[in-house]
Amino acid sequence: MVKNKAGEDLTILCEKCAWAQNKEIAKQGAGDKCPKCGAVLTEEKTVEAGNIFNLGTEYSAKMGLKFTDKDGKQKDVIMGCYGIGLGRAMGTIVEASNDKDGIVWTAATSPYHIHLLNLAKDDKKNKQADELYEKLAKKGFDVLYDDRDISFGKKLKDADLIGICWQLIVSDKNDQLELVERDGHKKEMLSFEEVVKKLEKYYK
Ligand SMILES: [Zn+2]
Repeated sequence: MVKNKAGEDLTILCEKCAWAQNKEIAKQGAGDKCPKCGAVLTEEKTVEAGNIFNLGTEYSAKMGLKFTDKDGKQKDVIMGCYGIGLGRAMGTIVEASNDKDGIVWTAATSPYHIHLLNLAKDDKKNKQADELYEKLAKKGFDVLYDDRDISFGKKLKDADLIGICWQLIVSDKNDQLELVERDGHKKEMLSFEEVVKKLEKYYK
């Protein structure tokens, strides 16, 4: 369960020791004492990001799946299964990681490594941006390249909304590249080599 106000489940939990139980099965409620450490429990909305099933010996008994224990006796294997839905995981990450401008993907979950934004009008610069896309791809980066013929403002807005964790900006006014971290919009002016060196640390 992941704590989030968009969650459809209610969880009774202890902030002090991390004890938690779904409200449907919990014997305690908000304001009661934690059964493990005695701190006051709270009730939070949560999203079910994954689930666990204790299958016990139901299937192993039917299949004849056994193991030999320390006393040399044959016993049915105790089974469990664990599920994480990818669609649900994406929704949970988006609910948990965003700001007023849109999604903020983490380096581990971003659908692309780099969102390349060509804001240049100059022909030479445009060619450089195309080459930059090829060079980054050759270095092994997944690049989403925005070369649409629309305003700067619209490109920057869309990039924030989509939320790829690194934005790389080519513009007429700078010979260097502007690297923007989506999380907090921290900006740096860097050379191509410096960009590669920095981002390889996150993706390799
Ligand atoms: Zn506790």
